[in-house]
Amino acid sequence: MTRKIFLIFIALIYILSASTAQTIVSPKEHFGFNIGDNYKLATYTQTEAYFKKIAAASNRVKLVNMGETEEGRTQYMMIVSSPENIKNLGHYKEISLKLARAENISDKDAQALALEGKAVVWIDGGLHATETVGTHQLIETIYRFVSGNDPETLRILNEVIILFAHANPDGQELVSNWYMSNPDTLKRSYSQLPRLYQKYVGHDDNRDFFMMNMKETKNISRQLYIEWMPQILYNHHQAGPAGSVVAGPPYRDPFNYLINPLTITSIDAVGAAMINRLNAEGKPGFTKLNGASFSTWYNGGLRTTSYFHNVVGLLTEIIGNPTPASVPLVPSRLIPSGATPFPVTPQKWVFRQSIEYSVSLNYAVLDYAARNREHLLYNIYLMGKNAIEAGSKDYWTSTPKRIEAINSAYAKDQSGRRSNDSTANTGRGRSADMPLKYYDLVFRDSSLRDPRGYIITASQPDFPTAVTFINSLIQSGIKVHKATADFSVEGKKYPSGSYIVLTNQAFRPHVLDMFDPQDHPNDFQYPGGPPIRPYDIAGWTPAFSMGFQFDRILNSFEGPFTQVPYGELQKPGGTFKKSSSGGYILDCQTNNSFIAVNDLLKSGVEIYRITKPSANKASFKQGSFFVPAKGKADAILEKEANESGLNIISVSSRPDGATERLSASRIALWDMYGGSAPSGWTRWILEQNNYPFSLIYAKEIDGGKLREKYDVIIFVSDAIPSLTQEGRSGQYVARDQSARENEVPKEYQNQVGRITAANSIPSLKIFLEAGGTIITIGSSTNLAYHLKLPVKDALVEMSNGKLQSLPAEKYFIPGSILWVEVDSTISASWGMRSKADVFFDSSPVFKLEAESVSKGDITPIAWFASDKSLRSGWAWGQEYLQDGVAAFSAKVGFGKLFAFGPEILFRGQTHGTYKFLFNELYTTGKSDLIETK
Ligand SMILES: [Zn+2]
Repeated sequence: MTRKIFLIFIALIYILSASTAQTIVSPKEHFGFNIGDNYKLATYTQTEAYFKKIAAASNRVKLVNMGETEEGRTQYMMIVSSPENIKNLGHYKEISLKLARAENISDKDAQALALEGKAVVWIDGGLHATETVGTHQLIETIYRFVSGNDPETLRILNEVIILFAHANPDGQELVSNWYMSNPDTLKRSYSQLPRLYQKYVGHDDNRDFFMMNMKETKNISRQLYIEWMPQILYNHHQAGPAGSVVAGPPYRDPFNYLINPLTITSIDAVGAAMINRLNAEGKPGFTKLNGASFSTWYNGGLRTTSYFHNVVGLLTEIIGNPTPASVPLVPSRLIPSGATPFPVTPQKWVFRQSIEYSVSLNYAVLDYAARNREHLLYNIYLMGKNAIEAGSKDYWTSTPKRIEAINSAYAKDQSGRRSNDSTANTGRGRSADMPLKYYDLVFRDSSLRDPRGYIITASQPDFPTAVTFINSLIQSGIKVHKATADFSVEGKKYPSGSYIVLTNQAFRPHVLDMFDPQDHPNDFQYPGGPPIRPYDIAGWTPAFSMGFQFDRILNSFEGPFTQVPYGELQKPGGTFKKSSSGGYILDCQTNNSFIAVNDLLKSGVEIYRITKPSANKASFKQGSFFVPAKGKADAILEKEANESGLNIISVSSRPDGATERLSASRIALWDMYGGSAPSGWTRWILEQNNYPFSLIYAKEIDGGKLREKYDVIIFVSDAIPSLTQEGRSGQYVARDQSARENEVPKEYQNQVGRITAANSIPSLKIFLEAGGTIITIGSSTNLAYHLKLPVKDALVEMSNGKLQSLPAEKYFIPGSILWVEVDSTISASWGMRSKADVFFDSSPVFKLEAESVSKGDITPIAWFASDKSLRSGWAWGQEYLQDGVAAFSAKVGFGKLFAFGPEILFRGQTHGTYKFLFNELYTTGKSDLIETK
């Protein structure tokens, strides 16, 4: 084709696409109002119909079904690009993936592919459904790109493949219907929503992106990390700090040391393009860096997980509401600064303005992508290549603790030599004087190298949980290998079927982050001052909190390994052999055994807990289950072995030792009007493990007669108030406790109200005294104080003659993983090892009265045995934990209270401590005790 014909050809395409654009129905025609009109919200049903309508009418769109949501709706993604690109999506997808994975490709090939490829940009909306600008900017932006024929739009469509994704359909349906249901527009609000805007976890739908528990997370991650690998991801939220319009990139420190520097500097570049465009259009009020609280430390948000995959992840938090509001007066925000170059002045503010801001920001990002297409594509290849290289040689990651080790080694030597030098004791030293040997002390210490890979042996008691972890990596686009034969590495033998995760891969930052501890810096407002709270949690390492076993291998290693195809989920293989006479043992170390136990109980199959195995035969652990080979037992167990990956032991006779007949407990889980996310996570965990249960609200508790209905009641964080109502509160702020019964729909009226000392606690006390079990987690361990049990807060000191909580300057442990000692001989911790990683989030720690412990009235379950309990995250003043009790049980009348300070079920991630709950969810009261031999 000559250049002239080519130009005519391009012109024709433009005319063609312009003519199609005529048929694109506008939002006003479809919804009956303009997106951004006051008092108007679109539901998901309407939005879905609109997506389908314009997808059918336009050759710039491909509508993609991403999968089902938790409530069963279809979650859609609209791929928007030029008609020519839309015809070749498969080809461009391949280029995008090839460059991002950076496998088996030369720099020259990468350059050629970058030249040929199209930039891929993800833009979502609606993840947090009450942040209504999110979904509505998505609808408006899609319309502009599908219908627009201005040169900028056409240029962007030619250079960029835009993935417009709806992040939370269920939430939009709930919130929009709720808001629109009030005929009086002035009274429209979503402040008293009856339930969470994601079926189980509400706002935590943005804390699930390394764990992949929720269906929406799986759907989104599949498009991001298996199907497309966009170079830029833009995640819309609401709202920025008061006195601003929108908070956005770049973000404040600390930035996570595992992230490739090119990711961070690309965030700077795209951020500059975003703020530039707003400033050029005369739209003030963008704040960045320390102007807001968002950092790049955390992994697990939709935006932040992308950093560990070399993606330029963007988040904005904008103001705006269909009910008109205003920008308040915040004097300190009126001075231009590096964080806020163009402050907004106090004024009235309408929804449409926020939509226009969002469209401008989307255009800024897409224009950047169009103009820098080749760089974006080549840079993601470079980042992948860097990661593969770093994982192919000895490499030392620089972390705060390592820098501290250099400083203190130097300071130690100096203090011996020059005791008068004041700099010697500060730990900072004089960097100009510092000999290189101090660098080498850390960064040439072979024991401190990053691992070349991790091995998860198939021969471990809770292998199915390890496979759940492997699947979370696979769903995040991580390359995983599986051993096809037995092998050994560094003298240790591993069976066939073990998993291997090598670090010489493009998304190495994610691999290291999932297996290794997070080392959060000591981040204070000023030396000696109060700590700066992390944006989310400080440490999460799922390989710790899930409680499975793995090995870190520092040297390069090989074996009979085959690569699992990208995205292919794994299933643990179980074993079952029919027992003719005796029965079966289910290992209590395996979490999935409890699924089998619940299914057996549901079918009325006889089942026993082995409370005391005979001493001379230790083939299974105390607390394991015995199922006689009768009735439906065979069929159910065969199915469970297959579906849950259980290795079921066949025995020819009933096991020696003591057993107790097990029956299902009547379980109640506390929840509240509006929905509690910790309760929602617990509900999800109970459902996943086939526990029957009902939800219980304050009103029912206050009504009493609980023992007639329930055996166990579970209270997660934020249910039980503190004695003073102002003690340490968890990170979850209870929402909308102000709702009044007569103001909410009939079906929710029984949910209104909260747990009070006056009305609820006496009723709970009666329940316990009558033989009930109460399990409290996190801040709900407050119940122990209401009941006046012989327990004290361990984290206090005398100050001005008064006992007070330790101040944050001395003690501060935001969400982190800590080590505890566990008494695994008592029933609460059967199946666990003598040490466990627990998730701790400013959690309660106790001191138990010695006399009550020796009398057996109160029993420690887990405690902090050392002054160094931190495993991952940040624990300032961790020495205060030493000898503190993390969990205990106490007798109350004929019943029992369990108090777990740490978040043992945190966000469906802490599989390693699930047994603390599971063990309490059965009744063995009327036991059929068999003492043999
Ligand atoms: Zn949000």
